[in-house]
Amino acid sequence: MRPRIFHTRLLFYLVVAVLCVGTGIAWLRDSEWRFSPADPILYGMPIALLLLLGGIYAAHAQKYEALPPAHILWRILLFALTCDVTCNLYIFNNLMHAPFSLLLTATCICLIWALMGRLCMIFVCPFFILQLAQIAGHYQYGTRINSLVVAETLEASEEEVFGYLSASNMFIAAGSVFGGILLSWILMRLLRSQHNRFQLVNAGLLFALLAGAFSLTIPPVRRNPNYYWPVYEVFALNQAWTEALFHNQATIKQVESLRSPADQPSTLTTLRGDEGVVLVIHIGESVRADRMSINGYSRDTTPFLRSCSNIINFPNCISAACDTCQAQIAILTDARRNIYEKDPAMQPHTGSVLDLFAAHGFRVCSFFGKRNATHLKYDMVVRLLTRCSTERHYAPGSPWTAVPLMADSLRQQSARQNTLFFINNEGSHTPFFHFDPKQAPFLPAGASFENPAAHAESVNNAYDNTIHYTDEFVHRVTRVLLGRPWLYLYISDHGEYLGHDGIWGRAALGESGRNYHSTTGCRVGMFFLYSREFENLHPHIAQALRTLASHTHMPVAQEHIFHTLLGIFDLQSPWYNPQLDLSSPSAQPYSGPLPEATE
Ligand SMILES: [Zn+2]
Repeated sequence: MRPRIFHTRLLFYLVVAVLCVGTGIAWLRDSEWRFSPADPILYGMPIALLLLLGGIYAAHAQKYEALPPAHILWRILLFALTCDVTCNLYIFNNLMHAPFSLLLTATCICLIWALMGRLCMIFVCPFFILQLAQIAGHYQYGTRINSLVVAETLEASEEEVFGYLSASNMFIAAGSVFGGILLSWILMRLLRSQHNRFQLVNAGLLFALLAGAFSLTIPPVRRNPNYYWPVYEVFALNQAWTEALFHNQATIKQVESLRSPADQPSTLTTLRGDEGVVLVIHIGESVRADRMSINGYSRDTTPFLRSCSNIINFPNCISAACDTCQAQIAILTDARRNIYEKDPAMQPHTGSVLDLFAAHGFRVCSFFGKRNATHLKYDMVVRLLTRCSTERHYAPGSPWTAVPLMADSLRQQSARQNTLFFINNEGSHTPFFHFDPKQAPFLPAGASFENPAAHAESVNNAYDNTIHYTDEFVHRVTRVLLGRPWLYLYISDHGEYLGHDGIWGRAALGESGRNYHSTTGCRVGMFFLYSREFENLHPHIAQALRTLASHTHMPVAQEHIFHTLLGIFDLQSPWYNPQLDLSSPSAQPYSGPLPEATE
């Protein structure tokens, strides 16, 4: 015969008594606790209590015990504890909340098994795997699975994916799968003898009631949804997924709906069309302005740019969004802010500025980094914005492989043909491996972003190497353009975080709870380079470049690019706004959100 201590009802009384005493003590000790009539738990608990009483009555009427045998209840609690300790990212953050998530886990185990039996493994096993991977990912990359991580994963190019396939990550992935399967198998073994599902429903309701009682001991203001694991976690994962997809769809729809600015009549007064002008529009990746030596960074990351006399550098340029696609929209169209900005005046009303140059005889050639999965958002948006391209090149491996392609492209055409080179390669995107390790100026450089805070020096070195590499890339492109009238615009899409603002990695911005524009990561590299031949093409161009150079002290933004490009060439279009043209005397500084000057 079982000892009395394991008797189901005795266990019930014991657990209730312990929690009531604990609740009472916590209440008395917590000076912040105030009774809140709007507390949803106060309404949830009577419902759970009524359901439980109904369940107990039904059990008595059917002449079976209201709860599963005591050994099953103990096993459920022990298993819930195992799940929490291994899978719950927040269990050790605040041990006062730990009993709450433990009871909530026990609730979920009882209810999902009662509802689905073994079929619940379809959901439970992937959930365990995801949670184990999330914990490992959190320690490796400082972020949980949020919408930005999902979006970044969906957008990742083949090279980026390979960058993350390190031995330790493979080991973590295998370990997560093994751990998830192991936990699922234990759960199956644990409940296989429990045939009475009503008893499990009652046990689930009891645990839910206890969880509710425990939650009441925490003042509503101090309740963090993250402690409502695993219930909140399922909600958060679902939200991350739908947000990433919604965001993708919304961004693509926005760009698809834009009419070309070339649909409206426009005139180009400074060029006849046979000058052999080369306009380079280079959208960089993840380059913080403060990591370029032209902006005062102590390391010489931009030696070529520093040596240039024909440079117009904007050290205070604000990017529109911490998201590549939205930044590309802000740069290439007349959009002023990101997709979430409610003011319609700040949204794009017309398509890509490239279309206007194409309409005026420029041959548009686009050079991308190597990307795969071309149906995803990353490629889709930039492809839509560069659809007037007559040539597209995807540089395999190093971005430098694009440089000879540019030389070939120019050679194959008449030297009088006006050309627009659009460049968008991986630049300084994580995991910071776009540089030549044999000629890296900053060593040791770890091209991996695993646990960056612990490898701060090598991660920072790797990041600085990528900027140095971009500097050399620009140098090589300008050598190809030698002798031609050319204008080179470089602007980065968004910044990056290497411990700046207390954040490691762009994906961790969401975790930090900070708004992008309150952080220093929104200040990005931006500069114009030009040849003397270009300056001498037309008096308007020479004057426009002088005015542009007089505005470098201004806070500027990606919203200025569309209009400034039109202004420099005096390309007159109904979409042109002189207040956003930095080469116009009417130019107005950026007036949107930006970080405090003290940061
Ligand atoms: Zn980007």
